[in-house]
Amino acid sequence: MLLNSSPVDKIIFNNRTFFIKRDDLLHESFSGNKGRKFYAFLESDFSECEKLISYGSAQANSLFSLSALAKLKGWKFDFYVSHISDFMKQNPKGNYRAALENGANIIEVESDKTLEHYLGSKILPNEKKHLFVPEGGRCQYAKKGIELLAQEIISWAEVNNITAFKVALPAGTGTTALFLQQSFIQQGSNFEVLTCACVGGDSYLQKQFFELCADENFHPTIMPSAKKYHFGKLYRKFYDIWRDLNAQARIEFELLYDPLGWLTLIDYIESQNIPTDYPILYIHQGGLLGNETMLPRYHRKYDK
Ligand SMILES: *Cc1c(COP(=O)(O)O)cnc(C)c1O
Repeated sequence: MLLNSSPVDKIIFNNRTFFIKRDDLLHESFSGNKGRKFYAFLESDFSECEKLISYGSAQANSLFSLSALAKLKGWKFDFYVSHISDFMKQNPKGNYRAALENGANIIEVESDKTLEHYLGSKILPNEKKHLFVPEGGRCQYAKKGIELLAQEIISWAEVNNITAFKVALPAGTGTTALFLQQSFIQQGSNFEVLTCACVGGDSYLQKQFFELCADENFHPTIMPSAKKYHFGKLYRKFYDIWRDLNAQARIEFELLYDPLGWLTLIDYIESQNIPTDYPILYIHQGGLLGNETMLPRYHRKYDK
């Protein structure tokens, strides 16, 4: 089974046209950013593999996407987490709920070491026919699916006679933004990729870029944030821009990455005096299952 190419929509937001690459619509259970990053596992045979192993947060988008992948491939799936709240165990929601429904084996570990270290020393040496995916899919495997995303964008631009434009997407590990910029250049296009650091700040993001690719010419542009925001926390500004987008574009975005993605993009357009008719393509990277837990939190905090 392969992925279809995702559509591009045109929206008006704050009196400006944006194109939206709808990777949230890539596939019903294998969509968005993680659908792209895990595409190589889906597409290749890996016939020796019997079990997928990864780790991260119990609400991670990668937990759900890997559970969907394992289900499609007929693999077992072990996902290690350091903590699941009792409330979540009793009321499974979002990615956690959907991953359980896909048969994921979610394993809580009590250890004073990091999960990465724990798996490396205690678990992986005893496993045989398995595939190990680092947290959030930060690995070279991710490149294959992102190359395809670059190709789709290049074809879309050709068909629509767009010769210069910028592509914006928010970053966590920065893997998607980096491989996208690299793929554009390697495929002979000079489209600039704009991104912002949702986790850990600009210097952390830059460090991540260097770990994946030593050549700075392939690195995306980091749009600065006017204020420091902590990943996973709630902010009035985030909720406001998310609701504005919902109302004006009639597209549901996710609440962890997209609000900062849009806030920094709007600031960047202004600070760089990018003309109103200069095309900008924003990538909707999916993750909507996370709204199942994020939206009630926002309602409780701001909709009293
Ligand atoms: C994982 C994820 C990101 C971050 O992707 P990176 O490649 O780690 O930068 C952004 N948005 C969504 C919806 C995601 O699931």
